[in-house]
Amino acid sequence: MFRDFRKISPRIFWLVTLAALAVLMTVVAVPQWLSKQARLEVLRSHVAEIAQIAASVVDGDLHRQLLDPANYTPELYERVVAPLVRFHSADPSIFYVYTMMERGGKSYFIVDTAASNKLKTERKLRPSAYMEPFESIDVEPDPDYLQRIAAGETYVYPKFQRDVYGTFLSGHTPIYDSQGRYSGFVGVDFDIKYYLALESSFRAIFYGSIAGAVLIALLIGYIVARYHYHVQDRLDEQYRISIRDELTQLLNRRGALRFSREALATRASSYAVILVDIDDLKGINDLYGHASGDEFIMKVADTIRNSVREKDICARMGGDEFLIFATGCDLDAATEIARRILGKVYAHDENSSRSHFGVSIGICVAPGADTTFELLYRQADEALYKAKQAGRNRFVIFDPVVAA
Ligand code: GH3
Ligand code: MG
Repeated sequence: MFRDFRKISPRIFWLVTLAALAVLMTVVAVPQWLSKQARLEVLRSHVAEIAQIAASVVDGDLHRQLLDPANYTPELYERVVAPLVRFHSADPSIFYVYTMMERGGKSYFIVDTAASNKLKTERKLRPSAYMEPFESIDVEPDPDYLQRIAAGETYVYPKFQRDVYGTFLSGHTPIYDSQGRYSGFVGVDFDIKYYLALESSFRAIFYGSIAGAVLIALLIGYIVARYHYHVQDRLDEQYRISIRDELTQLLNRRGALRFSREALATRASSYAVILVDIDDLKGINDLYGHASGDEFIMKVADTIRNSVREKDICARMGGDEFLIFATGCDLDAATEIARRILGKVYAHDENSSRSHFGVSIGICVAPGADTTFELLYRQADEALYKAKQAGRNRFVIFDPVVAA
């Protein structure tokens, strides 16, 4: 069972798995990334709303007075910060709530709820002092953000930024006095922990879907690789069948041609073609029946197989004709093979009118260079014809001088 499980094409498995993984990862990761962006946008508009509500509780006239350090008194500070402290106490998920003003492109803290001992919060806050300059050390806001706030826009940072107070998403909304004049702005810092808690549940979905995509990709890779193996196996089997003779299990003509041409391509020192043809098979069929004829064909095939070297090509070319294609085989070796076959095949039936059971053989040996299968075959066939004519049950070597 386990061995069967491993019947796959490994190269196809990895190729298909990786391709499927690339597609599935795109399908999984892109929507996840888009929805993460969408969640951050939702949070940004939430922070903008909180900043707007915070700005609405500030007394703009008092705040305007406090922008001038000459007007500063602890009492005025307390009156400005008091409504923001009440607002902040009501929503402890907000980290910092403060107001600011802009001078020469820099922003300065005016009031900070963290400075009030009336603020109800569990957090340890670091209060900013009146007129303390603000230093951003991580994500820079848009360069014109102070002008945009002054023009009436609620500005929320593009993403979380880290400063000396912590990591926050900050929103700023302008404050107006009773005459509608711009009088500084409110800042609200939203804690990243709230966001991270929210994201952790989405992270589980993300890793879950990645794991699912990997599993599906492996499964697709496995199914395709198994199918490929199966098809390849069937093709190999079909091919094996297509080059073999069914009766003798020797190569057939197609197989002989293919392997002989491959052997010729190696340009060996010599090649021998030995053609073997059963003597009077028609007579054997007539006298003993077709099945006996088949048996004799199989006997000749076995004899041929056992008379040659392992690497020699043996084929049944059709009917009762056999071929041996031997690479690196000289005339002596070829005649030795022919003698061996003649000796093993020859039989005589005392009770029949037949002269003998045997084969005739034509031999052709050629040096490696500039020869073709067709030429060798034709010359061996000429020699075989001569063997038949000379009385059968013998071998004849092709002689180019006589042939010419
Ligand atoms: P020879 O070669 O000695 O000249 O005589 P032959 O009777 O063998 O004649 P030839 O080679 O020309 O013909 C081959 C005969 O072999 C024809 C057919 O009756 C028989 N034969 C061909 N294929 C098969 C086969 O698969 N089984 C059997 N039993 N006989 C076959
Ligand atoms: Mg024959």
